Amino acid sequence: MGNLRTALLAWLFARSTGRDFLLRVEDLDTGRTADGAEARQLADLAALGLDWDGETVRQSSRTERYAAVLERLDVYECYCTRREILAAPSAPHAPEGAYPGTCRDLTEAEREVRRRERPAAVRLRATVDEFTVTDVLHGEYTGTVDDFVLRRGDGMYAYNLAVVVDDAAQGIDQVVRGDDLLPSAPRQAYLTRLLGGMPPTYAHVPIVLGPNGIRLAKRDGAVTLAERGGPPVVLPELAASLGLQGRTPREMLNDFDPARLPRAPWTLPL
Ligand SMILES: [Zn+2]
Repeated sequence: MGNLRTALLAWLFARSTGRDFLLRVEDLDTGRTADGAEARQLADLAALGLDWDGETVRQSSRTERYAAVLERLDVYECYCTRREILAAPSAPHAPEGAYPGTCRDLTEAEREVRRRERPAAVRLRATVDEFTVTDVLHGEYTGTVDDFVLRRGDGMYAYNLAVVVDDAAQGIDQVVRGDDLLPSAPRQAYLTRLLGGMPPTYAHVPIVLGPNGIRLAKRDGAVTLAERGGPPVVLPELAASLGLQGRTPREMLNDFDPARLPRAPWTLPL
């Protein structure tokens, strides 16, 4: 229900402004295609009346592009474990959770030693501490940019790199997604700029909560389209949660206005 509501909002934002609505399967670390989850999700969107344009892009098929873009960036190897990062003294004025820069200025000899300990992650050598993005719901939002990871130690390309490369390739000029991702938007917009692109506008929409007040999860009960009774039950439920009158996504376009969207998370009645 959380994903469906965000997808409906993304569709409404796109269709109400004459944009194409594009789908991308962000499957770099899930490996979910095998269990049918992807096909089920696409079928759910279609059943709700959410149509999309063009081919569905799969991130797992685009690693060569990510590798090529990584070559163009100023990066360095990082050998830190999560525990070492948490234990390191943070740089002055650095925000909570920012990478402290431990591996930024190691000598080649020091790198030789540390490379033997574990496979290195690759981090961006950022030249700013923060960056500002424009969000339809949050206005101008300024957030931390640190030397974030572009490729993990296990060789997996990071989400922050993949979305930036893919948004540019697909010509994405508006990103609509859950507001749990708002803090990562400044990093992605900064990286877009570094690569010579124009950052998209964002609309970070409130997420859906379960009965315990945290992000809705499968264990909360009847949370999928099928479990809740299909489109005839779910469409009115989603419309009401957004303050919209229509019974189908097309009808909801009639009174969709981003300025009037609820700003608080929606707790799914279970
Ligand atoms: Zn490090």
